[in-house]
This record gives sequence, structure tokens and C-alpha cells, in this order.
Amino acid sequence: MAKPLITCRNLDITYNRGKSNEFKALANVNTDIYEGEYIILFGASGSGKSTLMYAMQGSLPPSGGTMLIGGDDIYSYPPGERVYFQRFVMGIIFQSFNLIGSLSVLDNVALPQIFANMDRASRERRAQMLLDRFGVGHVSHKLPSMLSGGQQQRVSVARSMVNDPKILLADEPTGNLDSISTQQVMDKIDEINTFDKRTIIMVSHNAAHLQYAHRVYYLKDGLVVREVVNPQRKQIKSVKEGETIVTELEQLARLFPYDSVDMLRVKSMVNFLTQSLTFNQLVRLEHSVLLLMKGKISEKDFISVLGKKYEDGGVNLDRATAEKMGKEATRIIAQADDIRRFRNHTKADAAFFEQHKFAERLKEYLVHSHNIHLDEKQQARVSDLIADRVTGVSNETDFHTLLESKDKRHGLGLQEDISDDVTRYLEKLIAQGVDVSYKK
Ligand code: ADP
Ligand code: MG
Repeated sequence: MAKPLITCRNLDITYNRGKSNEFKALANVNTDIYEGEYIILFGASGSGKSTLMYAMQGSLPPSGGTMLIGGDDIYSYPPGERVYFQRFVMGIIFQSFNLIGSLSVLDNVALPQIFANMDRASRERRAQMLLDRFGVGHVSHKLPSMLSGGQQQRVSVARSMVNDPKILLADEPTGNLDSISTQQVMDKIDEINTFDKRTIIMVSHNAAHLQYAHRVYYLKDGLVVREVVNPQRKQIKSVKEGETIVTELEQLARLFPYDSVDMLRVKSMVNFLTQSLTFNQLVRLEHSVLLLMKGKISEKDFISVLGKKYEDGGVNLDRATAEKMGKEATRIIAQADDIRRFRNHTKADAAFFEQHKFAERLKEYLVHSHNIHLDEKQQARVSDLIADRVTGVSNETDFHTLLESKDKRHGLGLQEDISDDVTRYLEKLIAQGVDVSYKK
């Protein structure tokens, strides 16, 4: 595995240090970005996304910690070299385009090459070629102000690429655009990643953009609070066995980007427990599940709140349903603890038997609860399949396929509906038991 291209270690950025308006915009940020990755820095306004991007771009020196590019501390470069680096290693796109109003579109794109020792004709040829590529070649002799926002942004995409940078930085590049122009600009940036193999670092607070990225760093109040791998893209950064697995939680995280990991777990659980509740009942139920998960109320209290009338602060479920939910939720929490223990011990040999016991326990439960009849060989195979899924060696689809497959050596040949149920249940447990919070 290659070394990361950009590494931040315990990076702090403080604005106005030593003054009365001192402000710590980033604290203890750790990121590893690999060549060819598409990374999104995601978070609410003011969370520190732009600050992190400009620190990586070489214009905001760390107040603490380090930021290395290709192993080099660019902030230790002499000023001339740092500028060279910004000009030829990094391309940048801004929300507000930042085109020079008095220059034609062509000159705007040709300009950065003045420092690259190129004659005028070659500069213009290259600028025109890029403008053509990004669909704005026909307006190259106009002034920027005569173009639509979407066109102006595609001009700045062309400008950012003119010196053939390794890394493209974009600070909310579609923040000022309508939805059609947004799509066009996002597609072009995606193309620069997948076709030109450039590393992309994009700042965004639009959840619809997350699908483009390999990985997303979530920022909140100057901290990186979570790192999420996009299961839809083939990863460049190696995902260590058992370190990151694609879970329902990660999928939920993309649907509810502002929710904490706890809240995502709650959603996963509530989604499992409910079929036909009203929104108001769901909100109450979420609250009770949170208390139960945190150990603040017992199973008995939980059942009692669920059974109480809505007017009395309850969820208004019938007694039998409330009891069933209480039992199931408690069981899932306990089994999820098993998963957590299992994954924490993957390195120690001595823990092998513990792990084995866990997979056995889970197998026993799944086999019994679904009334599945298996011979001895199949029994052992289920345990192996569970172990592989829980350590992240296989994904949800592999697991499901093997349960259903009639292949004599690897498959189990279960009925489709049973395979569906068993897979769904195991994914619930993984969502509850696997720690996806940000770790250094
Ligand atoms: P984001 O891009 O996520 O909206 P920023 O990185 O721009 O957030 O800002 C993070 C925090 O740092 C905000 O509270 C902002 O007010 C503050 N900040 C940004 N730039 C400066 C600056 N030049 N001087 C002082 N504070 C700043
Ligand atoms: Mg910003």
C-alpha cells in the first residue's frame, strides 16, 4: 500500500492567535488522504471545512500538529517554492468562481501558465482545449460576466486544470448554482477523478454530493467527528480486514449526515422494531430506545413506557407488542455487545475460542429462531459465514448469496425468505455492535 499523499496529524488551526478575538477553528484533526481518492469534507456552516481545505492547500500554517504532502512539510518551504507548489501541484475552484472580470474567458484560463514558461500560442491552445472539454469552448472570447453561473464555474474548472495539478481542491463549488448547473459541474469533477485520476478534496454541506466520494470526513465544531467509507465506490485507501465494514449504519449515515452515531443506532433499531407506527409514536419510541441503549432505563421500564397511553407520555402500544419489543431490543443490545467483543479481539490468538463461541452462539440463535434444519457440515459453515461477515471479510451481499446458494461446498441452500431474514437480522446486530465513530 502506497503512503498517503496528504497527512494531517493532530492539526490545530487557531485564528488571531494571542489576540482578544482568538478562535480555534480546528482541533486535533487527523486525516490520511491517498492519491486518486475523492474526499469530501462535510459539515454544517462554520464547522471548519474551508479552514481544513486551505490548510491542505498551503495557505494556512498549522498552529499545532503537522500537515504533510508527499511526506513533505510544505510550510517549511521557502516562500517561492511554496508558491510553485500551489501553482503546479494544486488546482482550486471557489464557490464564487473568482474569475478576472476584465479578461476574456480564454485569457482567464491561459493566465496561470504564464509562470510555466510557455509561449502565448501554446498557452492559448491548451486553454481552448480545456474550455472545449468542459463544454464552454464556444464562449472563450466573451467576458466572464456574460456567462451563466454554471458556465463560469466550468471555466474555473478549466482554469484549475491548466497546469495539470495532482490535487484538485474545491470549496463548495456548486453553492451558487442551480440544480442543472450543479449536476454538470459535479459530473466534470467526477470525471477529473475517475478519468484523469486526480485526487479531489471537496468541501460541501450538500448530502446529495456524498455519493461521489470514496470517503467523507464529517466535521463538527472544528473536530473531525466521523469518517465514512462510501460502500458504492471501490476503495483506494486499503480497508484493513475487520476495520471498516459496510454496514447499515454507514448507509444511514449518508441519509442522515448530521446525526450522531448513537442516533443512527437508534434509527436502525427503531426501524427494525416498527412496522406501522405514526410519526409521533416513532419519536417517542426513538427516545425510549436511546434511554435503553444507554442503560438509563431497564427493560421493564422500557416495556412500561411503550405500553402507556400516548396522553400519558407513552408510545401507545398494546401490552403484547410492548413486551415483544422490550425482549427483542434487549436481546439485540446483548448480541451487539458480543459483536463488539468479537471485533476487539481479532488480533489475540487466545481470543480465538471466545470468537468461536460467539459465532456459535449467534448461529444457535439464528438457526433456532428461524427453525432451520442443517447437517453438521452446514452448521460449521454458518459459523464461518457469520465470522467472515462480522470481521468484514465478506459483505452483506456475499453473506446473503452464500446462505441461498445451492453450491455444495460453499452454499447453504436456504430458502430465499429465510436468507433475507437471517441477513437482515445479522446486519442489525452489526449496525448496533460495530464502532464506526472516527478513530485515529
Ligand atoms: P466552514 O467552511 O465549515 O463553513 P470555516 O472553516 O470557514 O467553516 O470557519 C470555521 C470557523 O472559523 C468559523 O467559526 C469561522 O467564523 C471562523 N473563521 C474562519 N475564517 C476566519 C478568520 N480568517 N478569522 C477568524 N475566524 C475565522
Ligand atoms: Mg466554508
